Amino acid sequence: MKVLVRANYKLPLVFCSFFALSLSFCHLSYCSSLQGDSEHYKKLRYKMVNRQIVARGVADEKVLQAMRNVPRHLFVPENRRSTAYGDFPLPIGYGQTISQPYIVAFMTELLKPEKDDVAFEVGTGSGYQAAVLGKIVKRVYTMEIIPPLGNAAEKRLKEAGYDNITIKVGDGYNGWEEHAPFDCIIVTAASDHIPPPLIKQLKNGGKMAIPVGHPFQVQNLMLIEKSEEGEIQIKNILPVRFVPLRRKWR
Ligand code: SAH
Repeated sequence: MKVLVRANYKLPLVFCSFFALSLSFCHLSYCSSLQGDSEHYKKLRYKMVNRQIVARGVADEKVLQAMRNVPRHLFVPENRRSTAYGDFPLPIGYGQTISQPYIVAFMTELLKPEKDDVAFEVGTGSGYQAAVLGKIVKRVYTMEIIPPLGNAAEKRLKEAGYDNITIKVGDGYNGWEEHAPFDCIIVTAASDHIPPPLIKQLKNGGKMAIPVGHPFQVQNLMLIEKSEEGEIQIKNILPVRFVPLRRKWR
């Protein structure tokens, strides 16, 4: 009888501890799935860098590290996050796109950015390219002609703590005189010619990357180098496809 009573006490105890154990197990697995979320994206990011960027020849360690550090999934619309690390551009609204990761890395490397550089970008879009540059250089000035895109990028970059990036809504064709000259200029929309104000605002010894060609066709990515003496050299780098550089919104 005594034995039976003990057994009756023990049984609920066993159930209780089983219940408590499974509760804490649930809790643990919930936590790890939350952590797994960013771990998951980090894994995808490292894979992206190895398979899409290193494999195609980008070797500047500063650029690779920046591409590993900037959480690209936070720069695409929420419903696109699962494909943020794919080998392609993605729509960001208003008919615009965030460039393919490889192109972002390739263009960044082309500029040979250094930590004390001041960079200027035409075409903020999502803010991703600016964030990648911002991880390498001292300061980035970037202009976006579509106000809702520029405002959203500003908010996104501020929330993510990028405090060396300044955004202005407006036409980047004329550059940003106030902060010129720039060590690096990157234009992420295609123009049918190289805007003269941008050449003027490039520092001696500086570099500019810009897709040149007709809108909605294949364009050429050009590298413009200004020598220490102020001489201009233009190199045709590779065929690319960008959204057009426009002079006004609407
Ligand atoms: N660099 C962006 C992608 C750019 S898409 C990113 O990392 O997400 C090209 C962007 O250039 C678009 O957002 C477009 O609105 C902008 N744009 C086009 N013409 C412009 C101009 N004249 N001045 C500033 N931005 C311009």
